[in-house]
Amino acid sequence: MADVAVIGAGFIGLSCAHWLLRDGHRVTLFDAQGPGEGASYGNAGTFANYACIPVNNPDVFRNLPRFLFSPTSPLRIRWRYLPKLAPWLARFLLNATPRRYEHSAAALAALLSRAFEGYREMLAMDALAGFVREGECLYLYSGAASFKGAQASLALRRSLGVAFETLERDGIRVLEPNLAPIFEHGTLFTGSWFLSDPRGFLQALDASMTRRGLHHERVAIDRIEPTRNGVRLVDTSGRAFDTARAIVCAGALSGRFARQCGDAVPLDTERGYHVRFPDTSSLISRPCGWAERGFYMTPMTGGIRAAGTVELGGFGPERNADLLKLLRTSAREALPALTQPDTDWLGFRPSLPDGLPVIGPSRRSPHVVYAFGHQHLGVTLGGVTGSVVADLVTGRASPVDLEPYSPRRF
Ligand SMILES: Cc1cc2nc3c(=O)[nH]c(=O)nc-3n(C[C@H](O)[C@H](O)[C@H](O)COP(=O)(O)OP(=O)(O)OC[C@H]3O[C@@H](n4cnc5c(N)ncnc54)[C@H](O)[C@@H]3O)c2cc1C
Repeated sequence: MADVAVIGAGFIGLSCAHWLLRDGHRVTLFDAQGPGEGASYGNAGTFANYACIPVNNPDVFRNLPRFLFSPTSPLRIRWRYLPKLAPWLARFLLNATPRRYEHSAAALAALLSRAFEGYREMLAMDALAGFVREGECLYLYSGAASFKGAQASLALRRSLGVAFETLERDGIRVLEPNLAPIFEHGTLFTGSWFLSDPRGFLQALDASMTRRGLHHERVAIDRIEPTRNGVRLVDTSGRAFDTARAIVCAGALSGRFARQCGDAVPLDTERGYHVRFPDTSSLISRPCGWAERGFYMTPMTGGIRAAGTVELGGFGPERNADLLKLLRTSAREALPALTQPDTDWLGFRPSLPDGLPVIGPSRRSPHVVYAFGHQHLGVTLGGVTGSVVADLVTGRASPVDLEPYSPRRF
C-alpha cells in the first residue's frame, strides 16, 4: 500500500485519513496546527444532510436589495475587497440561474445522500459517539413572505429525496418552548443530527487514528511538486518530504496548491462568524436556524453557539463588528433567556462559485488528489469525501459520479 500525505487536519483531511488508513495505506497528516483548528473549529456543528440548496440560488436576485442594504442582512461584502472578488462574484451570480442552480443542487444531493454512510464507522467508535447529539435541525421563518419564498427550494429538496416536516407556530413552541413566539413557520429536517463540539470530535478521531498508525508532521506546506513516480512536498522551512500520493485538504487555503499542480480553481472564502453564550445549552434541544438572519443556534458543550452569516471579503483577520452584533442581538431576539456572550470567532469557509467541492486528481499528476471547497457543508460531507478519495487512491470504482466535482469544470 502507498505512502499518502494528507495536507490539512480539518473535517476533510481527517476523514480522508480515516478512510485511507482503513484501506491499509501509510498516512502522514501535515498541518502546523492541531486537528480542527481551521473552519472546522467554529462551525454550527450540524449534520446538514438536507442542505442541498446552494447559497447562490435564484432567490439571490430577488433578495439582493435586502442583502445589500438591510441592517439585518446576514450577507455582507467588504467593498475594499471587491476588485479582487469581482471575477468570483460574477461566477457566483451566473451560477444562480435556475438551470445551473438545479445542477448544483442535484450534485450536492448526490453527495449528501451518502453523507451518513461516510461517517457510519467513525460514529460507531465509542470515543466519537459521545460527541453526537440526536436533535434534528429546525429551520425557522419569522416572516410569512420568506417562508412563501422558500417553497420552491423546499419542493426541490423534496424531489431530491430530502425528508422534512413543516411546523407552524404551535408546533414550534411544543418542540422549543424557550424560543420567542416570533417564528410563524418552521421545517424540521428528519434524520439530521449535530455535534456537541466539532473540534473535540476531530481531536478524538485524530487520537484514535494515531493509535492505529497515523503519523503527523506539524509543519505548513509551501509547495507541492509532482515527480515522476509520486509527489514532493516542501515545507515553509525548505524541508522536503517524498511521498507516493498527496491529498490536498487545506480548506480555503488550497487554491495555491491547485495552481502549483496546473489547475486554476476559483477558490475564495465565505467568511462566517460565531458568538458563544456560556452555560445556556439547556435552553434548546436541537440546532435552531433563523432563515432571514442566516445563522444557527446550536446547543454545544459550554453554551449555545450562534454561528453563520456570510461575508465576502478575503482572508484578513479584521472582524465585522456589525455582523457580530447582528448575531448577538438576533440570538437574544430568538431566545430571550440568553446571557451575555463570552467569545466570538471568525472562520473561512472554502467556497467555489458553483457551490460544489473539488474532488479529483490534479491536471499535472494523478498522484495529487484534491478534496476541498466544501463551503457550508464540510462537517456534513467530510466522511463521504474521505471515502471517495480512498476509492481514487486505492483504485476502486467510486459509487459516486465524480464529474460534477472535477477540478477541470472551470
Ligand atoms: C460560521 C460557520 C458555520 C458552519 N456551519 C456548518 C455546519 O453546521 N455544518 C457543516 O457541514 N458545515 C458548516 N460549516 C462549514 C465547515 O465548517 C467547513 O466547510 C469545513 O470546516 C471545511 O473543512 P476543511 O477540512 O476543508 O477546512 P479547514 O477546517 O479550514 O481545515 C483546513 C486545514 O488545513 C490546514 N492548512 C492550511 N494551509 C496549510 C498548509 N500550507 N500546510 C499544511 N496545512 C495547511 C489548516 O491549518 C487547517 O487545519 C460552517 C462554516 C462556518 C464558517
